[in-house]
Amino acid sequence: MEKKDLQTAVPLIVGWYQNAKRELPWRADKTPYHVWLSETMLQQTRIETVIPYYARFLEALPTIRDLAEVDDDKLMKLWEGLGYYSRVRNLKKAAQTVVSSYGGELPGTAEDLRKLPGIGEYTAGAIASIAFGQGEPAVDGNVLRVMMRLTACDADIMQPKVKKDVTQLLREVYPEGEEASDLTQGIMELGEVVCIPNGEPKCAVCPLNAVCRAHLAGETDRYPVRSPKKARKEEELTVFLLSCGDKIALHRRADSGLLGGMWEFPNAADRMTQKEAIDCLTQLGVSPTSCEPCGKAKHIFTHIEWHMTGYRAECRTAIPQYEWKTAEEILGSCALPSAFRFYRKLLEKECSDKTQ
Ligand code: SF4
Repeated sequence: MEKKDLQTAVPLIVGWYQNAKRELPWRADKTPYHVWLSETMLQQTRIETVIPYYARFLEALPTIRDLAEVDDDKLMKLWEGLGYYSRVRNLKKAAQTVVSSYGGELPGTAEDLRKLPGIGEYTAGAIASIAFGQGEPAVDGNVLRVMMRLTACDADIMQPKVKKDVTQLLREVYPEGEEASDLTQGIMELGEVVCIPNGEPKCAVCPLNAVCRAHLAGETDRYPVRSPKKARKEEELTVFLLSCGDKIALHRRADSGLLGGMWEFPNAADRMTQKEAIDCLTQLGVSPTSCEPCGKAKHIFTHIEWHMTGYRAECRTAIPQYEWKTAEEILGSCALPSAFRFYRKLLEKECSDKTQ
């Protein structure tokens, strides 16, 4: 990858972005908190999905201090459905550090930003350049794709070293001030709407088409080079929708690990037959009086795939290992990860059937 290719591209991207940028809520102002929140929400999530979450979140928690002090259930509810919940737990932890160590204002350098929980190289670069005008790149998959095509570089983008090298090379050509902000957003935008990940890149409307080596060689489909991902691990799970009177059982997951700290419907490893499910509930001590299959569901995480088999059971004993809440409480104020969406919908349907 040649540094001079990047030097040539910088003003082309900045100029293009200044004319072609889409109006998005977080582009209306560059308040560091807003940039931080939008960049965190946008990780692994589409822009159209983020827009309503972003507005709701800022309405409920307009300042970093509000975020630092918010009750966990309210916070999770604001994030419910966005997935990757460690992002929001880290947001709150980082907000607490910002309040205790920086007087409630985000620090203005990438170096200090990287010390905050959940802020890695990419987010630190994005906040530092967009909100503070520092010459810091923010390199994600979109940026890597554009850079690899621009320079016709055949290094494997799945290798962490490649990302580091691209970041370093970009850092050497990065402008400061308003142009740093426009360059970061411009490369992102280019990767999202022109030099797209799936399908043909739109080279005819790309500001780099006169200098892009992959395009000039007619080899855009060769880049970026990416070694195959490891196959996802598949896990079988049995999920229980347990009622005791008018209460439904919920369980809080351990703080660390997948969906850490989130509510879930009680569940156990493996796919159980109806008889095995009844035996399992009996052993748990909930004394089931009925237990019927209530449907299968699948959820795909980045590295794991859950295959769930559900049972709806009436119980006599509300064992203390679970929280027992009314369906209205669960639907109204408990953030359930989208992995359990299918079973949450069953609950919703039961509630609406009852009121009809
Ligand atoms: S010219 Fe085509 S391949 Fe090159 S950066 Fe632009 S869209 Fe991507």
